[in-house]
Amino acid sequence: MGGAISLLAVNFVIAQIFVATFLVVAAKSRPGRAAAWCAAGFAVASLAAICEAVVPFTPVPRLFAVGAFASVLAGFCLLRFGLGLFYGVPAKPSALSAFFIASVALDLAIYDLPRGTLQHAFFYQTPFFLIQAWTALAIIRSPRRSYADRILIGFLVLNALHFLVKIYAAMAAGAGATASDYLQSPFALISQALGAALIVGTGVAILGVMVKDIVDKARASSEIDALSGLWNRRGFIERVTPLLQSRSANGPGALILTDLDRFKGVNDTYGHHAGDEVIRQFARVLLDLMPSRAAAARLGGEEFAVFLSGVDLADARVVAQGMRAAIAATPIVGLPETATITASFGVAAIAPGESLEMALQRADKALYVAKAAGRNRVECAEPSARVVTPAVSQWIRH
Ligand code: GH3
Ligand code: MG
Ligand code: MG
Repeated sequence: MGGAISLLAVNFVIAQIFVATFLVVAAKSRPGRAAAWCAAGFAVASLAAICEAVVPFTPVPRLFAVGAFASVLAGFCLLRFGLGLFYGVPAKPSALSAFFIASVALDLAIYDLPRGTLQHAFFYQTPFFLIQAWTALAIIRSPRRSYADRILIGFLVLNALHFLVKIYAAMAAGAGATASDYLQSPFALISQALGAALIVGTGVAILGVMVKDIVDKARASSEIDALSGLWNRRGFIERVTPLLQSRSANGPGALILTDLDRFKGVNDTYGHHAGDEVIRQFARVLLDLMPSRAAAARLGGEEFAVFLSGVDLADARVVAQGMRAAIAATPIVGLPETATITASFGVAAIAPGESLEMALQRADKALYVAKAAGRNRVECAEPSARVVTPAVSQWIRH
């Protein structure tokens, strides 16, 4: 087997591996349409290898040579379509189809031009350059810009540029006198090898952005409480812990811990479904009344926490009082008008250097006091025993 034909076989196998991988990604991601279009792109592009291999042996080389061109271009168009869906920069199917049909017609028109000339090479490679550049520009225009997106843009730009280089390479190395001679030409070896390297890079880069997206979404949903839409305990700790390093004049901030009063009775009287609605509405009250630089979480059951960044104890107490009054005044959908839902609150100012866990424990003690004192109340925790004075915190930092 010649060098170029071996590379065709390698490229074909690589494309099938990508088809299988993108199908797996399509099955795992929601929605998986973008990955399915990419799988189709690699599947269609891989047909080019079969067409190229057939060209020297068929009485209709024109059909298979143009078929090879059309397969690769269709594959790139499908990738453009899939990536457009993924990045929210869709390509109009009509525009893609028009571009594809015009390019294939052009390839048919230049079929009889002498190969290795600038004219032939230019018209042959330019559509490939255009579709790759179009895809790269679309992603550049999208708002996503993670390191994975940048790598993909880099590969697409390289891919586009390499088609321009091929114009020169086809003339310098010689692409064979006819389509049937192509596979024996030095250019075929360069073209297939370069194409393989770049398509592997681009395929892996696309997989990278899609897998990153799946992981990011899974991670985000593992940190959000499905019933209330607030952070869950894990998400809360993840968000708040870095904010505790704040050097705000008021200290890192304050914590409000709250628990619905006699909630078991709500479930027993009105049913679990109504109880769920109370949890949802209470979450809404907390979100509506918390300041902008705050994070709210459902820590479990009917217990919630709100972290107020850079807020002192007195102000946090005012916020908690507002929340207490609001939930008591909120009519709950599904509950009789006479039903009143109340909650108790424990508030703690977080001392510089204090851990979130320690602050939560102090807020919990204050909440317990509020419950013991009759519920529907706000109680403040004693200042932390581990308060670090400004002088000491300076000493710790140096
Ligand atoms: P207290 O005023 O002392 O807090 O009394 P309580 O009845 O609210 O406290 P307790 O801890 O005894 O009961 C909490 C109840 O919360 C028990 C449980 O059935 C209910 N609960 C926990 N999670 C959910 C949930 O997701 N949905 C509903 N509907 N109820 C829940
Ligand atoms: Mg309760
Ligand atoms: Mg509770």
